[in-house]
Amino acid sequence: MLQVTNLTKRFGPGLPPVVEGLEFTVAPGEILALLGPSGCGKTTTLRLIAGFERADSGEVRLQGHLLTGPHTHVPPERRGIGFVFQDYALFPHLSVLGNVMFGLAHLPPRERKARALEVLDLVGVTLFKDRMPHELSGGQQQRVALARTLAPAPRLILLDEPFSNLDVALRSTTREEVRAILKASGTSAVLVTHDQEEALSFADRLAVMRSGRIEQIGTPEEVYHRPRTPFVAQFLGRTNLIPAQAEGRYAVSPLGRLELDRACRGQVLLSLRPEHLELVPANGEVSGEVIAREFKGHDLTYRVRLGDAVYLVQTDYTKRFELGARVRLVPREAAVVVGSGGPLDPEP
Ligand code: ATP
Repeated sequence: MLQVTNLTKRFGPGLPPVVEGLEFTVAPGEILALLGPSGCGKTTTLRLIAGFERADSGEVRLQGHLLTGPHTHVPPERRGIGFVFQDYALFPHLSVLGNVMFGLAHLPPRERKARALEVLDLVGVTLFKDRMPHELSGGQQQRVALARTLAPAPRLILLDEPFSNLDVALRSTTREEVRAILKASGTSAVLVTHDQEEALSFADRLAVMRSGRIEQIGTPEEVYHRPRTPFVAQFLGRTNLIPAQAEGRYAVSPLGRLELDRACRGQVLLSLRPEHLELVPANGEVSGEVIAREFKGHDLTYRVRLGDAVYLVQTDYTKRFELGARVRLVPREAAVVVGSGGPLDPEP
């Protein structure tokens, strides 16, 4: 559906590129999330795909048609791409129905209304069709904005932080609904977010960006469970980064001998998430000391000092250790090799 090849953009001669050498594809009906910290170039990438920005080099193709290329720049309104932005600006002077019909000027009036009603039904806001935008909740406005974008049946929708104005409870339900609507209509989408939980739950695949480049792309499970760099491991959730000396499928580490997810040799950096470690009472072996406990309702997170490092361990609510307890850290999963040794990245 969408093919982005070697896309690069600078905002001025001599300035460093804001996005550089981006490569990814989006399959028909697939949802891709671009995830990364503030300023890494996510919005610029969407604007390049939409045609609001001109690329310095690289290509954007939609269903094989060249939209952006060395001598090509199809204007945004002729790309057949829909957008939903953070502030989902509905026209305040138009009713819900009016807002959705607005983008259907190319249809005869009767078909325009029928199509608008069909899409309002799809997003579940038919009841509100005659209301004005200010008479709707944030979540309802969000769905109307989506209906307005879906009405002309774009092949691809770009979503830029579309849920960030919603409160936490509304955000997750709206997210599930929007995902279901995109799937029901078979629309491909690219979502920009800096919220890792949103990317993991909303997308079929996600691309983790850092400083204008894609650091890793894969399914949520792949990227979460098999991060390939320390940055990706830390950006997708809390983790323990552990320097070790690898020899094949095992490594010698401050936690003892660890199994690795792949064979390696020499100095390596390993990632073990807090839920991939288990605490057992120590009796004589190399042991650490519980120095903090964080109660989180359904689970507990302990901080354990072992040697000169502190490790995070997440246990279920039944595991109780007092501060000062001597414990052993036992891995429940193979450690993931995220890099060769060297200085650890600061936590993002
Ligand atoms: P956020 O999550 O904060 O929105 P982002 O990942 O979407 O960040 P972009 O908005 O793409 O990041 O911006 C990437 C970089 O490009 C930033 O350093 C930004 O200041 C810069 N930038 C964006 N637009 C322009 C512009 N029109 N002119 C100059 N610099 C720009």
